[in-house]
Amino acid sequence: MSQDKVSVYLDYNATSPVRPGVADAVAASLREYGNPSSTHAFGRNARAAIEDARETLADALGVAPSAVVFTSGGTEANALALRGVARSAGCQSIIASAIEHPSVLSHVGDADRVPVKATGEIDLAALEKLLGARAAPALVALMLANNETGTLQPVAEAARIAKKHGALVHCDAVQALGKVAVDFGDLCVDSMSVSAHKAGGIKGAGALILRPGLEISADISGGGQERSRRAGTENVTGIVAFGAALVHARRSENENGRVQALRDEMEAEISRALPRARIFGRDAQRLGNTCCVAVPGVTSESQIMWLDLAGIAVSAGSACSSGKISPSHVLLAMGAAPEEAKAAIRVSLGWATTVEDIQRFLEVWLPLASKAAA
Ligand code: PLP
Repeated sequence: MSQDKVSVYLDYNATSPVRPGVADAVAASLREYGNPSSTHAFGRNARAAIEDARETLADALGVAPSAVVFTSGGTEANALALRGVARSAGCQSIIASAIEHPSVLSHVGDADRVPVKATGEIDLAALEKLLGARAAPALVALMLANNETGTLQPVAEAARIAKKHGALVHCDAVQALGKVAVDFGDLCVDSMSVSAHKAGGIKGAGALILRPGLEISADISGGGQERSRRAGTENVTGIVAFGAALVHARRSENENGRVQALRDEMEAEISRALPRARIFGRDAQRLGNTCCVAVPGVTSESQIMWLDLAGIAVSAGSACSSGKISPSHVLLAMGAAPEEAKAAIRVSLGWATTVEDIQRFLEVWLPLASKAAA
């Protein structure tokens, strides 16, 4: 659908519209076309642009610039951690929460998934039990914020338990960056992944953050880029856009509070109109921008189509799995019945969401959901 005036975009967890300043930074970067590995002036300009963005990202996360390894996005950063960190640290197995993103779960066997409670938070006792049953060191993967429900995880506490058992911890912070404060040191993890397009940059850039002294064996070799931790000519424009997005996010101090107020008001309205609606993760600490709601009786696909016809974009479960009719693994792990999970939609707000956007969504969606619930 063309993005005309009636379009309402409420799918920020799939990707964010680029933040102000990003398009200009992209255009300027495209005019500076040097290869950052070239030693002439064109190359040096491109190198300087990358290092500027690296400093901005490092500053936002409270790490040294040398901790940042730029990648093509969150998926690659997760793969690099789960393969490269595990390999070089001699981790024999990977343990992950049952609600991780598929880019993490694809590296984890069924028996190594840690259950979550009905709130969507990891069961720390189960994590400790799994770790205690292993003789060899493991790598634990735990996301900071879930992409479908927004539930925040007790990462520092999980890391404390992991350390007790000699395990390393990787944190997927892709959905958290820009929506809550993310301080790498406070999380006490060994590595962390972030992605530019979820934070208002462009698609195709992300980063793996490594704690000082942690070596990784590169997954992609054949060049000395990123201190030989990730070979290949850098996506200069994507990295520059990442930096510009973070600069805008830093300046928008009240943004997350404003977004959360909009989300909370929307959820209050939903609960008033539809007392049977289930809002997943409502009893846990959650991102302030995310609402995952199910009203039994109408499939998520039908709701998405109906909303799309009215120019409103939301998604069912994670964007990566839309198109599939199987219910979300996240909602099932939280104890939802398959029928309930198949009825869930995810409404995710962001920096450009307005009161009018929410009003329009409710105006179109509430009558449909009420009819299904009747
Ligand atoms: N991790 C989480 C929690 C995500 O939500 C996503 C994307 O939806 C990814 C990783 C993958 O990030 P990217 O799209 O940058 O590959």
